[in-house]
Amino acid sequence: MLDENFEVVVIGAGPAGSRTAALTARAGLSTLLLEKRKKIGFPVRCAEGIGPREEVERFLDLDDDLISSTIDRFAVVSPGGRRFEAEKRGIGFIVDRELFDRRLADLAAEAGAEVRTSHQVTGLLRNDHRFTGVEVTDLGSGRSYTAGALVTAGADGVESISPRWAGLKGAYRPREVMSGAQYLIDGMETDDRKIEFHLGRRFAPGGYAWVFPKRPGTANVGVGVNPEMAGGLNAVDYLERFIKSRCPGAGRGRLVVGGTVVARGLPSLAAGGFIAVGEAANQNNPFSGGGIINALEGADLAAETAVEAIREGDVSARSLGRYTKKWKKSTGRANELFWHAARSFYAMEDDEMEKIIAKLKDTPGLITDTGVDPLRILRVLVSTRPGLVFRLVPALVKR
Ligand SMILES: Cc1cc2nc3c(=O)[nH]c(=O)nc-3n(C[C@H](O)[C@H](O)[C@H](O)COP(=O)(O)OP(=O)(O)OC[C@H]3O[C@@H](n4cnc5c(N)ncnc54)[C@H](O)[C@@H]3O)c2cc1C
Repeated sequence: MLDENFEVVVIGAGPAGSRTAALTARAGLSTLLLEKRKKIGFPVRCAEGIGPREEVERFLDLDDDLISSTIDRFAVVSPGGRRFEAEKRGIGFIVDRELFDRRLADLAAEAGAEVRTSHQVTGLLRNDHRFTGVEVTDLGSGRSYTAGALVTAGADGVESISPRWAGLKGAYRPREVMSGAQYLIDGMETDDRKIEFHLGRRFAPGGYAWVFPKRPGTANVGVGVNPEMAGGLNAVDYLERFIKSRCPGAGRGRLVVGGTVVARGLPSLAAGGFIAVGEAANQNNPFSGGGIINALEGADLAAETAVEAIREGDVSARSLGRYTKKWKKSTGRANELFWHAARSFYAMEDDEMEKIIAKLKDTPGLITDTGVDPLRILRVLVSTRPGLVFRLVPALVKR
């Protein structure tokens, strides 16, 4: 006997979960959104970078209060200090991620979803054929209860375990998480409309270091490293090294430590009565680790499929499996390319990276109306490592 019943239950109120809940509620389905944290969006574990306005506004209005700074320029700095710089008005934004996540959850509530914070999902319910809802603990009162659902959406982010509970193969392994550390730095020299990426083993083995300006003189300064290449040091050790070089003597504010999934996409995103969305579904871009827009994109497709399946009265793995196909077509296949490219690129020695940065300077058409053209970057990679083509071409064909 279930304590409560909904048509859709969503685990986690990050961008993926809130957007999924908003869309299923907007379609008229009774929807419960469960978040284990006390305060949605807090603490922030993000560099807060996001793409151009057209991309973001497919999902929500990018109101002024959500924007910390507008980005018109970027620099990629090679291990030896060679700079590739480019300019494109409004190529991206640094957002206030706490407000951003809260806005998305408010939109879910306005659409009619019931949003509960401090409610942690502790397991999935199942019958013989499918998953049928969740077990929940109210962290405030300690009370446990069950909530039934025709479809449960696992949007529990980097800490996700719901895809594993649902038996989805390919859920990420610890080594497929880029380990990140970031300080909010005050009183540094920055161009407040420019983001910087710094490459090389000295600051960020297997990843990159970044400077994302929040306002004049203040920036999110961080590093993401591959723990297997870090030689016994951790992300904070590399961050200290980077700060010493990039902004010695600057003031330090909030420290953020966290991982981001840079794994290959899940072969299947659905089981009977269950779908995985956002970082929980390995939907981040495996090259950059960025996952906000991908989570929103995944949510749109997941919600659309869940609504169709519930209306048709068929929430089987086969029916919900349409979501996997939609995702592969929209972003999944591109992510597969990025995954191969990332494995090759981040394993390179510094001198090889040096050559790539030099080549970027001579690559026409790198900056398009919508931002950086990833295919041009892949082309530069392939020209440096021709063997990569044998992995990229099959990735373009169905997996
Ligand atoms: C240091 C760092 C910097 C980053 N910088 C960027 C960036 O600049 N741009 C970008 O696009 N991406 C960035 N990312 C990645 C981005 O933050 C994530 O990809 C994005 O948050 C994924 O959204 P999501 O909704 O899938 O997951 P999340 O935002 O992680 O949301 C998942 C939610 O589920 C909740 N939850 C987990 N388990 C349970 C449970 N059992 N019950 C209930 N609730 C649960 C969590 O508390 C959380 O609120 C960065 C990540 C890190 C670590």
